[in-house]
Amino acid sequence: MDMTWFDEMEAKIPRGTVRTRFAPSPTGYMHVGNLRTALYTWLIARKNKGAFLFRLEDTDQTRQVEGATELIYRTMKECGLTHDEGPDVGGPVGPYIQTERRGFYGKYAQLLVERGHAYPCFCEKTEEEGEGFQRSEDPCRSLSPQAVREKLDAGAPYVIRQKIPQEGSTTFTDASFGEITVENNTLDDQVLMKRDGLPTYNFANVVDDHLMGITHVVRGSEYLASAPKYNLLYEGFGWEIPTYIHCSPVMRDAQNKMSKRHGDPSYEDLRREGYLTDAILNYVALLGWSPRGELAEQEFFTLEELVDAFDLTGISKSPAIFDLEKLKYFNSTYIKNLSPEAFLAAAEPYLRQGIRNPSIDLSLVAPLVQTRLDTLTEIPPMVDFFDTLPEYSNELYSHKKMKTTPENSLEALTLTLPVLEALEPWTFESIHDALIKLAEDNGLKNGRIMWPVRVAVSGKPTTPGGAVELCHILGKEETLRRIRQGLQQLTPTP
Ligand code: GLU
Repeated sequence: MDMTWFDEMEAKIPRGTVRTRFAPSPTGYMHVGNLRTALYTWLIARKNKGAFLFRLEDTDQTRQVEGATELIYRTMKECGLTHDEGPDVGGPVGPYIQTERRGFYGKYAQLLVERGHAYPCFCEKTEEEGEGFQRSEDPCRSLSPQAVREKLDAGAPYVIRQKIPQEGSTTFTDASFGEITVENNTLDDQVLMKRDGLPTYNFANVVDDHLMGITHVVRGSEYLASAPKYNLLYEGFGWEIPTYIHCSPVMRDAQNKMSKRHGDPSYEDLRREGYLTDAILNYVALLGWSPRGELAEQEFFTLEELVDAFDLTGISKSPAIFDLEKLKYFNSTYIKNLSPEAFLAAAEPYLRQGIRNPSIDLSLVAPLVQTRLDTLTEIPPMVDFFDTLPEYSNELYSHKKMKTTPENSLEALTLTLPVLEALEPWTFESIHDALIKLAEDNGLKNGRIMWPVRVAVSGKPTTPGGAVELCHILGKEETLRRIRQGLQQLTPTP
C-alpha cells in the first residue's frame, strides 16, 4: 500500500501541546450533560494553554435536527467557551465537519484491513439476525484476498468490521474510573464503515481524534464500554492512545438520568426560565467535579477562576443529581451580584412583559426587584401592578404591626391626598419628606401613613419597594388617581 498520503496526514498533526475537542452531533438540544462535557473539555485546554477544537459529528444523517448546529454554536458563544479551531474558524487539521472528511475514513479502514485489524463483511443483515449466527465464526473474518476481490468486483454490498482478537484481554485507563480490563471475547466485531460508505461514530472518532492531535477525550460514561474497542483500533494503527475522561451521567433523581423527554430542562430551557448563563455554568461545573485543597469549600467560580481551579483529579465517578433548588440559589446570588446596568439589561425584557406603559422608568423599577429573585421569570407578576391597579380587598389595609385598619386608613389617605396634590416637584425626596412630615404633624407613626399609601397605589399585600418608591415611579397623576380610588372604596356606603 502506498503510504505517501498517510504520511502527509501524519505530518500535519500538531504535537507537543494539549488539544481537546467538543464533538457534538447536531441531533437536538444542548443538554445539561453536553454543556458539562463542553465545559470540562474547554477547561482542560485553557488550563494547559492548549487548543480547544469544535468538531461536528454529523455522520448519522438520519438523526440530524434542523437548526441544532446553530443552537450549539450560539450556546458555546453565550457561555464563553470559545474554540480555536472548528468549521467556522478553520485550522490546520480541517475540515472539522465529519461528512466533509468522508474521503478519509474509507482510506483508513482500508489501511486497517491491510494491517489485519479489520475486514470487509458481506453478510446480509437478515443472515446476521438469523438464529445461531455467531459473529466470531463469520467466514468473512478469514476470506482470502482473492475471494474478497471477487466479491468486490461482483459489486456485493459490504460493511467493514473491526477484527477483534478472539483471545486475550484489553486494558484501558480512564482518568476517573482508573484501569479497566475486559476479555476480548466479550467485544463484538463492530462496524467501522457502513454500506453507504460513511463511517460509524465508533470509527470516525478514533480516526479524527488521532488526525486532529487530540490528547484528552472527555465524554459521557455511556462510551466506557466502547473504550477497549477504541484502544484496539489505536493499537491496530500503531497510534498513541489519548487520555480518556468519562463523565458519569447527570441524573434527575437517584434512579433516572436527566431526560428532555421527561421534561428535564436543556440549557435553552433554563435560559428561557430566567437563569443566567454564568450561574448555569458555575452550577454545571460542580455536577461531577469538585475543587480540591484550599478551594475545597468554595462554591462560586467565574469561568476564569474555574480555569485555575479545574483539575482532572476532582472529577467524580459517581453520578451527580441535578438539583433545581441549588441552581436557584446560584442564580439568585448571581442576580444579586450583577451591576445595576448589567441587571437592567438582563431584566429589561421581563420588566417589559409586566409593564407595558412606556412612561414607567424601568431603571427605577429594576433595583427594587434585583435582590428578591431566584429567576428572572419571577419579575413580570411582581411588577404588573405598575401597569394596572388590580382589584383588591379592603382587608389589605389591616396590618397588625403597622396598627392600620380600613377605618384608620381612610383617615390616613384623607390626610395624604391634599398633601400629595400640592406637592411640587415630584421626586423621591420630596415625597418621602412630605409623608414623614404628615405623620409627624399628626402625631402618627410613619407606618400609619406609609402602609395605606402603599396598599392604595399597588393593590398588593407585598411589593418590591415601599410607598415612596412606588409613588415616585408611578408619577403624580397616577398616584393621585389610585389614592382617590382607595378613598372611594374605603368610604362606607350609607
Ligand atoms: N458525537 C458524540 C456525542 O455527541 C461525541 C462523543 C465524544 O465526545 O466522543 O455524543
